[in-house]
Amino acid sequence: MSRTPFSRPGPSRRTVLRGLTVAGATVVGFDAGTRSRSASGEARTAGLRGTPRLDGTLVTDDASLTAASDDYGHLVHRRPLAVLRPGSVRDVAAMVRFCARQGIPVAARGQGHSPSGQAQVRGGLVVETAPLAAIGALAPDSATVTVGAGARWSDVVRATLAHGLTPPVFTDYLELSVGGTLSVGGIGGQAHRYGVQVDNVTALRVVTGAGEPVRCSPTRRPDLFHAVLAGLGQCGIIVEATLRLVRAPRTVRHYLLTYDDLGTYVEDQRALVEEDRFDYVGGQVFADARGMFRTYMMEVVAYGPPAGPEPDDAALLRGLRHDPARAQIADLDYYAFLDRIAPAVAALKESGAWTFAHPWLNLLLPGDHAAELSAPVLDALTPATLGPGVIQLYPIRRDRLTSPLFRTPDDPVPYLFDVLGAVPPDDTAAVGRALATNRAAYEAAAAVGGTQYPVGCVPFDRADWRTQFGSAWPQLAAAKRTYDPHGILTPGQGIF
Ligand SMILES: Cc1cc2nc3c(=O)[nH]c(=O)nc-3n(C[C@H](O)[C@H](O)[C@H](O)COP(=O)(O)OP(=O)(O)OC[C@H]3O[C@@H](n4cnc5c(N)ncnc54)[C@H](O)[C@@H]3O)c2cc1C
Repeated sequence: MSRTPFSRPGPSRRTVLRGLTVAGATVVGFDAGTRSRSASGEARTAGLRGTPRLDGTLVTDDASLTAASDDYGHLVHRRPLAVLRPGSVRDVAAMVRFCARQGIPVAARGQGHSPSGQAQVRGGLVVETAPLAAIGALAPDSATVTVGAGARWSDVVRATLAHGLTPPVFTDYLELSVGGTLSVGGIGGQAHRYGVQVDNVTALRVVTGAGEPVRCSPTRRPDLFHAVLAGLGQCGIIVEATLRLVRAPRTVRHYLLTYDDLGTYVEDQRALVEEDRFDYVGGQVFADARGMFRTYMMEVVAYGPPAGPEPDDAALLRGLRHDPARAQIADLDYYAFLDRIAPAVAALKESGAWTFAHPWLNLLLPGDHAAELSAPVLDALTPATLGPGVIQLYPIRRDRLTSPLFRTPDDPVPYLFDVLGAVPPDDTAAVGRALATNRAAYEAAAAVGGTQYPVGCVPFDRADWRTQFGSAWPQLAAAKRTYDPHGILTPGQGIF
């Protein structure tokens, strides 16, 4: 594969940003020297007197609090009072109960890969889920596996592949936590067939905002189950998830198909997901030789045995209007396919560009408007404004979605449109421009029923959240009242 996502690393710098609002937060700066340390050690710990005995640890050291007040975006910084590294589910329940009594806000943090403070909590408790990463035995019928919410998807799939099985849907990056992606949805190129990750969960164990550990499923406390999946951490902390498994292929045939026309690209993708021809349908937009974002590369994958038949190139590519001279076809080991962006991520980390600011735009567009809505955003971009980032544009199918809080346009084939830019962190003006662009793109999409995929940096207020949740808002609001009666959970999302 000659082109990979996250493929243009650059140098690292620092930034100071002021006065911008994303995810309900004012972006107040990233300068190690100016980060807020207003709370004195004593004041910080005063709220923590009388904490329960724990199996794990509750830490308040500067390094831990500083780390918990940063994330992948490096745009928002909220310093917590303490960080819990739980030794057990009981620890999570005990500390949430304690915080509920004291009125201390709480946020779970998986891998902290949110870009605008969604897992941060000023003056509150951050619950790191990473210690809750056990991967249990497969169910007797091998249809599911139960894992701790802090497990990373890379660990989950390595464990299930030992049995020839796999969760059906993956995010592009495997080092995200199970709890983190189940809180947002979890979209990947397999979603057109299986729905998103939240559609492939059969049961959860959750600690509610009242500190009560509860098991839930589509038939047991379904209101909680459906309020937690894609629920942005509002009604409970997921501590364990039971994930559906399907047979894994040993190898996959991977196709990169190049288009020079956006409309044709979008139409061909749509036809493919409607026919269900491939196991994976994704795609990215690249700059052409003139620096215009007008090269469209569809990424499609057919699974080989035992998950599918031997791939037949002629049948699979029949009727597609890509440029055959530029097609790239390769057979890949299944795990290598799932983890294919790992080398590019390693290069970004090596170069320092991983620590750039990430003012990401993530939208779900009505399929009928996908080309018309994405074209002006793409036309306004330059390689310099995108930086070492990527643009994704690919469809999912609404009839495969089952989770009420995963909000999509009312269109049979919504398109994910991600502009995953990376900006040198001291370029305040560029971040401001990116946020303004994100907002404008969201408004254009929302005007025709588009939604935000809430893993990015679209400036949003509470009214926007009501619009976002639409007909599911009453259900979310009711679950919030029931399961987080003190309103302490996950304020970083800015929803309530
Ligand atoms: C490089 C990269 C690639 C990505 N690729 C994709 C992709 O292909 N598809 C996709 O869908 N997304 C993708 N994302 C977005 C990603 O899925 C979300 O940002 C996800 O929430 C990050 O997981 P995390 O473990 O870092 O969560 P965090 O950032 O730690 O948390 C995210 C939110 O969920 C809450 N939360 C975390 N854990 C729990 C829990 N156990 N219970 C309740 N609430 C919890 C947090 O409080 C926070 O509000 C990508 C992100 C990055 C940085």
